[in-house]
Amino acid sequence: MPLRFFNTYSRGIEQFEPHEPTARPIRMYTCGPTVYSRAHIGNFRAYIFEDLLQRHLELRGYKVHRVMNITDVEDKTIRGASEAGVPLQKFTEQFKEAFFEDARTLRIKRADEYPAATEQRYIDRMIDMISALISKGLAYQADDKSVYFRINKFPEYGKLAHFDLTQLQSTGRVKHDEYDKEHIGDFALWKAWDEADGDVKWDSPWGPGRPGWHIECSAMSTALLGDQIDIHCGGVDNIFPHHEAEIAQSEGVTGKKFVNYWLHCAHLLVDGQKMAKSLGNFYTVPDVLAKGYTGRELRYALLRVHYRVPLNFTWEGMNEARESLARIDEWLARLRQLVGTAQRADPTSHFEDALDDDLNISAALGFLFESIRETNRTMDQNEMDAAAASAWLDWWNRINTILDLEASVDVAIPDEVAQLAEQREEARREKNWKRSDELREQISALGWEVRDTKDGPKLTRATVSA
Ligand code: AMP
Ligand code: ZN
Repeated sequence: MPLRFFNTYSRGIEQFEPHEPTARPIRMYTCGPTVYSRAHIGNFRAYIFEDLLQRHLELRGYKVHRVMNITDVEDKTIRGASEAGVPLQKFTEQFKEAFFEDARTLRIKRADEYPAATEQRYIDRMIDMISALISKGLAYQADDKSVYFRINKFPEYGKLAHFDLTQLQSTGRVKHDEYDKEHIGDFALWKAWDEADGDVKWDSPWGPGRPGWHIECSAMSTALLGDQIDIHCGGVDNIFPHHEAEIAQSEGVTGKKFVNYWLHCAHLLVDGQKMAKSLGNFYTVPDVLAKGYTGRELRYALLRVHYRVPLNFTWEGMNEARESLARIDEWLARLRQLVGTAQRADPTSHFEDALDDDLNISAALGFLFESIRETNRTMDQNEMDAAAASAWLDWWNRINTILDLEASVDVAIPDEVAQLAEQREEARREKNWKRSDELREQISALGWEVRDTKDGPKLTRATVSA
């Protein structure tokens, strides 16, 4: 079945055809973190959606070359460094490291490249692109010495966001007074230095200053992926003005179509509102771990809803994630007890077919749990043979290259818990129910749950109450 994605540009589902249908990798660009503070789990919803997209493309046999930029210079990073009284580089370094640590915790596949905006070769490229835009009449230097993109000269401006230019308002990312610009929607390509910038500045034909946020992505993407990209992703809040501006700048310079497929994920919400730093309603990955959850559980909670559907973050949702994973773990353990050496073809491909359909993860997971239910019933009736169990495990291994949800050391049973469980078994053998209940409580105080099954006691991570 061909892959289909919802393209923000056309607002429709389109069949996916890579730019050059040859063996060359798919070029994928994903807007990365602005490293002025630790990313919140809303940001990670976007990165997990991109991870799912990349892994599914790879499962379908494509090679993917993915670039994720690091925005390490813009208003917020400069303000943060100045408030902390440290150089910009030192200020942003800690948040870059935190980003990589959190991405590892969430099992997000590494991009092939992580360019940072402050690298001199990208600054040089930004300056070259701005010069080219000026020479084409698409940009101008205003009285405040900053350089702006002239949106009235680019008729395509507004096509991605389906925006009427007359309704444009100031975006908040534009620093200088509006009257310096020809049009309120003109955005800064180069921001002239002022005192608040401290020593953050680069020389340019327009005087000392620094790049605007949008030109950073145009420069880094074209530098590393060429003039034309297959897939460009981000959260829906990136559509306007950021991605609209990226199109104007990149196409303004190259004259070629910049991106074939624009994919945007809906927000992670808290109480119906976007999770955002500015609203103070956010959690970071360490916040969630501190509540006793694992990275795998958070990965599942952020992954399980279709990327174009807003997802409300709740602790009940985290508990549901834990329960779903416990079902998968138990199912795998049962299958593994049964397998023999015999092999059989994959049971079905419904899971992958669902993902072909604009990454319909909800349908794919629905199919997984339906399969778990059915195979558990077969196993209950002792009707699963070794060959069938092997086939199901092969199938799991295949879909787990996308899900990456198998338990690992992060849920290994601690010695203390295992010993308590052993003592509880002894108490039960002696029919000392009081002692057995006490031990159950001690186990639960350590964050584990013991369940008595016909195959003996099973330990799982306990459900945490908020
Ligand atoms: P930023 O660091 O603000 O540039 O954001 C990094 C990425 O996270 C972008 O792709 C944003 O669109 C995305 N993002 C920000 N907030 C949320 C949210 N609440 N839910 C999903 N994605 C988000
Ligand atoms: Zn970007």
